[in-house]
Amino acid sequence: MGCINDAYNRPINYLRVSVTDRCNFRCLYCMPPGGVQLIPHEDVLRYEEIELIVRAAASLGLSKVRLTGGEPLVRLGIANLVHDIAKVPGIDDLALTTNGVLLTAKARDLARAGLRRVNVSLDTLRPERFYRVTRGGELAKVLAGIEAARAAGLTPVKINTVVVRGLNDDEVADIARTTIERDWHVRFIELMPLGRSSDWAHDGYVSTEEIKARVETLGPLTPAGGAPPAGNGPARYYRLPGATGTVGFISPVSEHFCFQCNRLRLTADGKLRPCLLRADEVDLRAALRDGAGVAEVAELIARAVRLKPEGHGLAKHEPPAGRTMSQIGG
Ligand code: SAM
Ligand code: SF4
Repeated sequence: MGCINDAYNRPINYLRVSVTDRCNFRCLYCMPPGGVQLIPHEDVLRYEEIELIVRAAASLGLSKVRLTGGEPLVRLGIANLVHDIAKVPGIDDLALTTNGVLLTAKARDLARAGLRRVNVSLDTLRPERFYRVTRGGELAKVLAGIEAARAAGLTPVKINTVVVRGLNDDEVADIARTTIERDWHVRFIELMPLGRSSDWAHDGYVSTEEIKARVETLGPLTPAGGAPPAGNGPARYYRLPGATGTVGFISPVSEHFCFQCNRLRLTADGKLRPCLLRADEVDLRAALRDGAGVAEVAELIARAVRLKPEGHGLAKHEPPAGRTMSQIGG
């Protein structure tokens, strides 16, 4: 079945679902030290509510779902949700974005439940720096988690690295170098001006052009098309000479990639956001708790699709102050 198009003729086939706003890290550029004001428990969508929303989305032709957070693996019983979503007819790709620290314990159950792949966020390979950036995280646990994901068949493993000036910009070449020997697909991401409570989000921006120049100190980059398998996101991929893995670049700020945006975002409290960087939301939770079924929710999702702006307009306006990345899910 074909998927729904928005007002600018972009096919919308991808739903990102934030399953919790809670997190076991406090990354410097994502969260204030004490964390954010948490959504009250009763306002967080229950698993059966998320499943109904996914069914409604699938009825409109959306076929890809990614679970995110906060940290999705801190939510109890997450494999049960994976299991339920994996069974929804029409959903042919189910992935998850995680900080990786709980993967050693959970990768196998997640794979058994029907998860296909994981993206792991990893901003540094230096243990002390990792501890500082995440405000308390242990690098060794994340590296073990990446291996556990691979062993469980959650492949290809993509590594997301947000480059922040003064925090890890001096490590870009070291991180890219890992792709020479390992089958890692490292994607360098430009810092977005969200999470206004943090100075990093203001001052830490490094452009893809600069990041790429740092990678190129290792050798020339050859375009690698849409690699790794099944990439239809905003990353552009390259390979270093003789490398097993790839290096990708995601440029939400420097490059206008909105023209190929294919996604909607569901927040943990049940609001559907047509654009990451705009404040508009459609309230699905209120409708669900008023008794809406699949057809009514599908109508609301179609409304959110119609609301998608042509672009995030960051060049023209400040990003909305309301929610941080940990609340929207990235
Ligand atoms: N906790 C999980 C994780 O860290 O992968 C999932 C949620 S996290 C919000 C999703 C992604 O958003 C992570 O890769 C994180 O590095 C990224 N992120 C957070 N704040 C960001 C910002 N201001 N600009 C760009 N990416 C950001
Ligand atoms: Fe948590 Fe992910 Fe934000 Fe880090 S980036 S604080 S792991 S939600």
